[in-house]
Amino acid sequence: MLEQARKLLQQYYGYSAFRNGQEQAIQSVLSGNDTLTVMPTGGGKSICYQIPALVFEGTTIVISPLISLMKDQVDALLQVGIPAAYINSSITAAESRERIQKAKQGEYKLLYIAPERLESYDFMEHLKELDIPLLAVDEAHCISQWGHDFRPSYQRIQRMVQVLPQKPIVIALTATATPRVRYDICESLNIDENNTVLTGFERENLSFSVIRGQDRLRYLKDFLKKNEKEAGIIYAATRKNVDQLYEHLQKSGIAVSRYHAGMSDVERMEQQEEFLQDRTAVMVATSAFGMGIDKSNIRYVIHYQLTKNMESYYQEAGRAGRDGLPSECILLYSSQDVQVQRFLIDQSSEQHRMSSELEKLQQMVDYCHTESCLQSKIVHYFSEAESPPCGRCGNCTDSRETMDVTREAQIVLSCIVRMGQKRFGKTIIAQVLTASRNKKVFELGFERLPTYGMLKDQSAKDVTDLIEFLISQELIAVDHGTFPTLYVKEKGREVLVGKETVYRKEAVRTKQV
Ligand code: ADP
Ligand code: ZN
Repeated sequence: MLEQARKLLQQYYGYSAFRNGQEQAIQSVLSGNDTLTVMPTGGGKSICYQIPALVFEGTTIVISPLISLMKDQVDALLQVGIPAAYINSSITAAESRERIQKAKQGEYKLLYIAPERLESYDFMEHLKELDIPLLAVDEAHCISQWGHDFRPSYQRIQRMVQVLPQKPIVIALTATATPRVRYDICESLNIDENNTVLTGFERENLSFSVIRGQDRLRYLKDFLKKNEKEAGIIYAATRKNVDQLYEHLQKSGIAVSRYHAGMSDVERMEQQEEFLQDRTAVMVATSAFGMGIDKSNIRYVIHYQLTKNMESYYQEAGRAGRDGLPSECILLYSSQDVQVQRFLIDQSSEQHRMSSELEKLQQMVDYCHTESCLQSKIVHYFSEAESPPCGRCGNCTDSRETMDVTREAQIVLSCIVRMGQKRFGKTIIAQVLTASRNKKVFELGFERLPTYGMLKDQSAKDVTDLIEFLISQELIAVDHGTFPTLYVKEKGREVLVGKETVYRKEAVRTKQV
């Protein structure tokens, strides 16, 4: 059967070999096992269910959360001659009935449906009349409350499987591999955890870097000037940011497109086409851009602001270098953006999800402050695996001296202990350490602490940076109560008592203000 799969790969897709993980996933499904496939974005998940769909008799059902993605996938399949269709809220009831009829007659190899369909009694009754050998659950992390995109209707999938007259084989696919999410997927869909196909999360052609403490607009313009022949995406946090950047770059004579949800459909399509067909080199966009976009020659992805979590970051950054050639993923960090993200989480999240989202944001901030390999940090985040330094990222290639900062770290840690664990945030802690004359500091009597002013030769900003660094090293942790407060972790205690040493790259200090 694997031989047949390989022929189909060549025949329909024109590829001569499976990628890492694809063969294993296909083999597992063809042998009749329910399977979880975890691959990074761009890893080639679609083929893992599309090829088995071609091998099996009947219609494979694909559950997919994004309407735009469904259409793209179906268009791509039709183009290579694989009969497929989708049913979601973008089509009329009459069209939907027609497609169901055709599905019953076995006219499609693949039928994409939105998870919300499973809430319709009528639709479920229709499904029972189909011959369904395989059920593919795309973006399966939507099942988990711990994922970054929880969808309640995903939790109905298992019930659907149970009411079908013939139990289909189930393949779940996601790019999120945290053990908790993996566990939830397997639990919810009744997949044996041993049937997990997990490929490496490294993308060997990508080099990651984080730029801190620089004029972002100037950095961006310099970068674009040096790379004017290359295609790239610049992600900004809000529509307003996108519009501003777009205008700035256009004025500087750069051929640029833009994309965000505030534009009309027509305008968005036009701008997207311009970029896809290489008429413009640069796309400035919000996170609304990129799903289902298959442009292989993207040489860089720059984030003008940090994202709300690592999942979004890796998904967006991962759009660079799909053709396998060296590409750059750059994040421009500014601490104010963390406040903006925190505010957005406050505004939009349900109460019970808030702390998990703030925790994810903190991990993103840690990524921005770590001095170890960024690629390894990402791999560890997604799979808890250890990997050797990549040798390519901004941190691996950072040639600054490494300094022993144990003494400074001890001062910070001891100041936190003295001010009270889980009571204060980093701003006031930095103020105390730099001998601020702020009213609140005096009201609380902190000017009498022995650590008051012990780092006063540094600016409050430098000390805040140092605190962020110590958080990224897991010496200090953030408690997300009504507002974020700090406390010293076990590893921090070891530093305090002199059992552990702390190293940091020679600081690039901002001027005392
Ligand atoms: P994902 O869903 O994991 O993000 P896709 O399924 O969209 O990834 O695949 C990403 C890209 O890789 C697509 O352009 C696809 O055609 C290509 N691709 C997938 N499998 C192979 C393969 N075996 N050989 C070469 N290219 C592949
Ligand atoms: Zn590295």
